[in-house]
Amino acid sequence: MLFSMFPNDPGLGDSIDANLSTGVLMIVHPDGLYTLSFEVDSAYEAPKMQLFRIYSNQNGGSGISKVETVKPQVVGGRYVFTFVCEENEKSLWALTLVENNDYYRGKTRNVKFEGSGKYSNHLSLNLIPVGLIDPIEGVDGFDDLSRLLVQAFRKSYTSFVIDTVYVNYAENHPTLGRKYSPDRYWRAESPSKGTSLSELGNWPAKGVTEALDIVLVHRIDELNVLGFAGLFAANLVGGDESTVIVGSHVLTTTGERALSAEEIVKVAVHETGHFFGLRHTTSTWEDLENYHDLSVLEDGFEDTPYCPDLLTSGLYKKGEGKASVDYRMPYYGVKMMDSRAYGVAFNESDCPDAHLFMFPVSSEKTMTEFSKQQLKVLKQNLTLIPH
Ligand SMILES: [Zn+2]
Repeated sequence: MLFSMFPNDPGLGDSIDANLSTGVLMIVHPDGLYTLSFEVDSAYEAPKMQLFRIYSNQNGGSGISKVETVKPQVVGGRYVFTFVCEENEKSLWALTLVENNDYYRGKTRNVKFEGSGKYSNHLSLNLIPVGLIDPIEGVDGFDDLSRLLVQAFRKSYTSFVIDTVYVNYAENHPTLGRKYSPDRYWRAESPSKGTSLSELGNWPAKGVTEALDIVLVHRIDELNVLGFAGLFAANLVGGDESTVIVGSHVLTTTGERALSAEEIVKVAVHETGHFFGLRHTTSTWEDLENYHDLSVLEDGFEDTPYCPDLLTSGLYKKGEGKASVDYRMPYYGVKMMDSRAYGVAFNESDCPDAHLFMFPVSSEKTMTEFSKQQLKVLKQNLTLIPH
């Protein structure tokens, strides 16, 4: 298995440091300017970095082709490799480090992978109701909900310019509309089974293309899961991983619970944070299993505290081993759990990160902001993503 990374993520983890020479995957975007750097190991000559493109062929297999070889500069005791991605869509690349026709054997400590792009920091939203949705407490219809959504995004994503929001009903989709009948509740399967309603991404029935598509379903068919997005899904042009999913209800052990409009909007803000590359402030067991790296206990930001007690609190069941990392397109699904599922056992005041949107468990009173560093990374990542 190869570990993967995406740009401007301060929480890369030990596995990247340990495996950098022999192969690490990275998600890159068209015209992105990237730097990879790590501490110089003076016991060895400087390595060269080899970049490879990983692609799918028509038979469903995958192949690999060399992109280029890059020599480092030394800046402040670090090797710094700089390159530009000349793909025309979001792509998966791999890198290796070589020295004298062999893998580089020096230490690669404190790896940083940074990127910046040419795209704007403007973003529009599409709200896409799917199937039958019951009336939502706190709003009068979807236009009202969309207004609440855009207000919340403007208030929280202060490093973006949120232009506008449109409501597009899935039933009006020109080719898929019949599949999403307005008379039937839509229960989204766990995206790990392959269904994430991505086919509804970048569908310009009304409004603008290349907006963020927030898909509202009756519920996600997984216990206590309120919403879903891919970690650094980073796709505003349709196809795989191009949607953020939220439910009007959540599946509970006793049936289901309806969410208020305010709660739905909060879930959308949280999941969108993942979409643009933010991890949970404190990792859950499921996160650790997805990352395949037990060193990533928190998000790596200096200005976001984390909650050491949370991992050991028993609030998170260990996963059932269903998490997987696909070789060709590493995709960590990141779900948001319902705090009410844990009843009185859960005490938000014990967690110094509960005020941040990327706290992993929803709560009524908390989750009100992004940190300064998170906002900076959000903006940097938005400018990398074609839109
Ligand atoms: Zn989450």
